[in-house]
Amino acid sequence: MCGIFGIHGHDEAANIAYLGLHSLQHRGQESAGVVARDDKDGRLRRHIAMGLVSDIFSREQLDRLPGRAAIGQVRYSTAGSSELRNAQPFLFDYAGGSVAIAHNGNLVNASTLRSQLEAGGSIFQTSSDTEVIVHLMARSREVDPVARLRDALSQVEGAYSLVLLTDDGKLIGARDPHGFRPLVLGRVKDAYVLSSETSSFDLIEADFIREIEPGEIAVIEHGGLTQHRLIATPVEPRFCVFELVYFARPDSQLNGQSVYRAREKMGTKLALEAPVDADVVIPVPDSGVPAAVGYAKQAGIPFEMGLIRSHYVGRTFIEPQDSIRHFGVRLKLSPVRSVVEGKRVVVVDDSLVRGTTSRKIVKMLRGAGAREVHLRISAPPTTHPCYYGIDTPTRSELVAASHTIDEIARYVTCDSLAYLSHDGLMEAVGAARSGAGFCSACFTGKYPVALGRQDEAVLVKLRRGSV
Ligand code: AMP
Repeated sequence: MCGIFGIHGHDEAANIAYLGLHSLQHRGQESAGVVARDDKDGRLRRHIAMGLVSDIFSREQLDRLPGRAAIGQVRYSTAGSSELRNAQPFLFDYAGGSVAIAHNGNLVNASTLRSQLEAGGSIFQTSSDTEVIVHLMARSREVDPVARLRDALSQVEGAYSLVLLTDDGKLIGARDPHGFRPLVLGRVKDAYVLSSETSSFDLIEADFIREIEPGEIAVIEHGGLTQHRLIATPVEPRFCVFELVYFARPDSQLNGQSVYRAREKMGTKLALEAPVDADVVIPVPDSGVPAAVGYAKQAGIPFEMGLIRSHYVGRTFIEPQDSIRHFGVRLKLSPVRSVVEGKRVVVVDDSLVRGTTSRKIVKMLRGAGAREVHLRISAPPTTHPCYYGIDTPTRSELVAASHTIDEIARYVTCDSLAYLSHDGLMEAVGAARSGAGFCSACFTGKYPVALGRQDEAVLVKLRRGSV
């Protein structure tokens, strides 16, 4: 879970990258960084730090990143690897020059490749899978950086959306052949921009041009763009449906659709599939809002804000200790007594992972006088961890992996619980029932790209925080 950004051909490249990262902040809050290319000598300069974009870039720091091209990243890492050495963009020198790289996604054969590279003498400086791409590029026998990149990417498997900046003045955007993670292309004045989401285009007043296609390498230099293919025959696209369910910002346009409208439709379908007599529909803010709007409209039940979210607390999702997480939910959300008191309440959230959040919310609503609490989840049960870049806990922590819906309802102590069906989700995002075009492995366990044994072991350790 990361956000990446790139710009080429703008007098204030680093400033624009800073703004772009701001509107990708929801994709990662642990570290951020920008690399800019100085036009005078091609030198790549970098500023990275742990923390939020607004906290880590000062005017002076941005002034120290001159040039007309820049890339940046915001990072959300798993517990064990949250440290500065893993903050991106990475900047490296090799025989062919200097390159900076920022990555969103997760490679499924990184650990295997890393062992092979280490056996051949490579010395890794980070625990990030992205560094594997760096080493493969450095070892490639190709000369041109684009050819080196293609060579490296032909050996990695899994999910990657990438932006790269080279000292010879190229901005490169690439997406894996399945296109798991998003990457969009836009234009502001004469500059090209690449971003994980269109939300950053709105902020910097860039026009959306198109998505970088799955399996495409787009090379921007001298004001022009050339397209290269990663593989000769395209494979089936597998855009991550969880981007539409939860992860992306609702004001973004991704995979040809409005994220907000997709979520609203999920709510509409949910109301059709799982109606209930109630007095009020309330969302779990912010992620449940569009689906709750859809649910309320379809059900003809008033929509109200029965929970208020404090915007001054950090994320609580991945806190390692349950006790802290419990506390965190109360810090983040509080009930509005005048909305829920004496009412039969439908509460809509986008997903239920461990169940900790929902359990707390149900308790809070009852404490505020709700007569009945009906929980509606605008996605199917999360039964499998993601291997392609969404931060999900291990299978044993996913409550739906080992409990029936009735058992989960008892655990979260709601009066009724219903999830959107997989077919309903697929209809809401405009896919065929079979789910063509999307990856929904977290709901089905059908992984489009298999994970090697060694890599699985490493991912499990990472999630437990022991790496
Ligand atoms: P849980 O308490 O584990 O059931 O967490 C569910 C809540 O976390 C829901 O409100 C979701 O919106 C949110 N959520 C789901 N997936 C993620 C994720 N990968 N990262 C952060 N938050 C998430």
